[in-house]
Amino acid sequence: MIIDFRSDTVTKPTPHMLEAMQSAKIGDDVFGEDPTVNALELFSAQLFEKEAALLCPSGTMTNQIAIKCHTQPAEEVICDRQSHIYQYEGGGIAFNAGCQVKLIEGNRGRINADQVEQAINPDDIHKAKTTLVSLENTSNRGGGSCYDVKEIQKIKAVCEKNNLKLHLDGARLFNALVARKESAPGYGKLFDSISICLSKSLGAPVGSLLLGKKDFIQKARRIRKIFGGGMRQAGYLAAAGLYALNNNINRLQEDHKHAKYIAGLLQKADFVNNMLPVETNIIIFEVKPDLKARDITENLKAKNILAIPISERQIRFVFHLDITPKMVDYTGEVIQQL
Ligand SMILES: *Cc1c(COP(=O)(O)O)cnc(C)c1O
Repeated sequence: MIIDFRSDTVTKPTPHMLEAMQSAKIGDDVFGEDPTVNALELFSAQLFEKEAALLCPSGTMTNQIAIKCHTQPAEEVICDRQSHIYQYEGGGIAFNAGCQVKLIEGNRGRINADQVEQAINPDDIHKAKTTLVSLENTSNRGGGSCYDVKEIQKIKAVCEKNNLKLHLDGARLFNALVARKESAPGYGKLFDSISICLSKSLGAPVGSLLLGKKDFIQKARRIRKIFGGGMRQAGYLAAAGLYALNNNINRLQEDHKHAKYIAGLLQKADFVNNMLPVETNIIIFEVKPDLKARDITENLKAKNILAIPISERQIRFVFHLDITPKMVDYTGEVIQQL
């Protein structure tokens, strides 16, 4: 038995999800004729009280489409230095949208309204025109940290005052909603566009959704085609997504509980130095100065436990649907003996 904490993307569809996929009604979605894709787009839009939604192959693509739709080349996007759109999307902001970024040093991946206001360029021909602010909730590099919704409201006010669009990279938004007991429509109201992943902790094999106004999603549909992301009988994937949204949101609490339990044991372990506060399903910690992250992950691997060394001295554990209580107990025992 391998216990895989490398990412919440490693989950495999359960028998029930596979059943839903197999019995899905399908059609050609590029013609707009896949009933299950249409149902998923409608369902997710209604969940957030947005006008429309678009199913895409990946979270990277939903983010990149959103950035492309909100901007013109040579404009500037404000985001945290640790954000996925800057760190892990292959330079896509420059490649796909022709834009540059203004990076902010936030607090565990979260930026605040004052920082946003100060980062906006003046109306000066030497400066790139600031047009978009992008937030990430939960923050991946921030160790699954959650925004305080009051701060987002302040950021939105700054955006409205300065005529900026506001995008949310909500790859793990449901983890934040469950942890903070907040509502999806509350988030729908705050953002011009939201991207959510069905293939992260919700357990679907593939798929992300982009949510927004009708005309925005119409434009996004065109950009998705240009990016090569128009899919044909995608209803099989949409069925998995619908199953995930209907069944796998509330259970995220379990992942959070598991993460807190293992975090508590890690904090007592000899090899652990600093740990980011654990708010959701991610643990990020630093190993003691004389140690290397890779040596610890190799020791864990010898005991069938997989975790990622995300830097020389940092290790990440991510909890998800395929981590059972038994696996958590075993991992706890291993950590105490390591
Ligand atoms: C995983 C992730 C994405 C999208 O990743 P894909 O692998 O392209 O689906 C986007 N943003 C954040 C914060 C993520 O963690």
